[in-house]
Order: sequence, then structure tokens, then C-alpha cells
Amino acid sequence: MDKNEILFRCVAVALLVSFIAVRNYYRRRVESEPVATGRAQARDKLCYQSISVSYMLTFVYALTHWLDFAHVSLPAWIRWIGALTAFAGIAILWWTHRTLGRNWSGILELRENHRLISEGPYRYIRHPMYTALLILSVGMALITANLLLALLLIGTTMAMYLARVADEEAMMIERFGDEYHSYMRRTGRLFPRLRAE
Ligand code: SAH
Repeated sequence: MDKNEILFRCVAVALLVSFIAVRNYYRRRVESEPVATGRAQARDKLCYQSISVSYMLTFVYALTHWLDFAHVSLPAWIRWIGALTAFAGIAILWWTHRTLGRNWSGILELRENHRLISEGPYRYIRHPMYTALLILSVGMALITANLLLALLLIGTTMAMYLARVADEEAMMIERFGDEYHSYMRRTGRLFPRLRAE
């Protein structure tokens, strides 16, 4: 393996470890928060697990030659842009976790005393954490330059988003009613609205 390839694999592992560290840190902080209602469907949980498996496969890519058959030759600068993109995804993920605090859950749930967050990244976007995960998946696809991983990482993240976003918004409307309706009018789903209504 050439030196560049080893470097890309080390950077990919460092990014993955940072991603897992941010997730676990915030997951531990909300563990003791009581759940009021859960609405996660089997489909929703399956999507969440598929994303986890895809990221675990990224470790396999970095530490073995087993996934080399799916290698795509990409210029080094594109792979470095991938690394920066993934880093940006992790930074936004950290920001959203910090802002959402104890209202976060990995699956669709409402906590007791759930509060509607509309500050920080939630001021303009309703689902900045999903934006962060999509950015991260594209970044990881580019840095690994592996077609199989690209399809799995981007595919499972998109599937999770599509499978749950409508249910999540329905759950928030049920709980927050007009407050969420007016929040929806001010914000975009994954990207800020270009024109206010
Ligand atoms: N979809 C959001 C949050 C993902 S975590 C994002 O992408 O940033 C999923 C949980 O967050 C859901 O179970 C819901 O209870 C909670 N949630 C989603 N939007 C919220 C908001 N604006 N304020 C408070 N909690 C929210």
C-alpha cells in the first residue's frame, strides 16, 4: 500500500473515532432522562442499525484489505476535501447535540418535559443533525474512495432520513401543535429556507 493510502486510512479512523466519541459522550448524558412516549417503528430501528454497521465496515476498510476490491481511484485533493467535509459534519453534529441536550434520542421518542428547541442550528433548520450525518457520510465516502462504503454510508443515512422525517414531524406536531407549525414556517428541513413565508 502506498504512503498516501496509509495516511488516508489513518485520517478515516481518526474521524470515525471522533464521531463515535461525540455520539457516546452525549448519549451517556441523556441516558437517565425519562422517556414520555416512544414512536420508533421497527423500520426506524433497522435504519439506525444499518448506519452503525456501515460505519463499523469503515473500520474494516481502514484496517484490512478485504474491501479493496471496491476501491475507486480518486485524486488525493478530492480525498482531502472529503476529510474536511467529514470533519465539518462532525463539528455540526457536536453543535446540534450540544443545543438539543437532553431532548435528543437515537430513535423517535419524546422525553418527559420535552422542550421545543429553536436556537443554534435549529433556528433555521429543523433537522440539522440529519444534515450533519449526510455531510459526514459524503465526506467519509470521498476520503475512503471505496464504492461499496460510499453506497452503504450515503444510502443508509438517506434511508434513515426518508424513513423517519415525516413521522418525526408528525410526532412534534402532536406534542407542540401550533408552536411547531409556526416553527415549520420559519425553517427548512435540511437547509435554511431561502425565502421567508
Ligand atoms: N431531527 C433532529 C433531531 C434528531 S434526534 C435533527 O436532525 O437535528 C431525534 C429526536 O429529537 C426526536 O426523537 C425528537 O424527540 C427530538 N427533536 C427533533 N427536533 C426537535 C426540536 N426542534 N426540539 C426538541 N427536540 C427535537
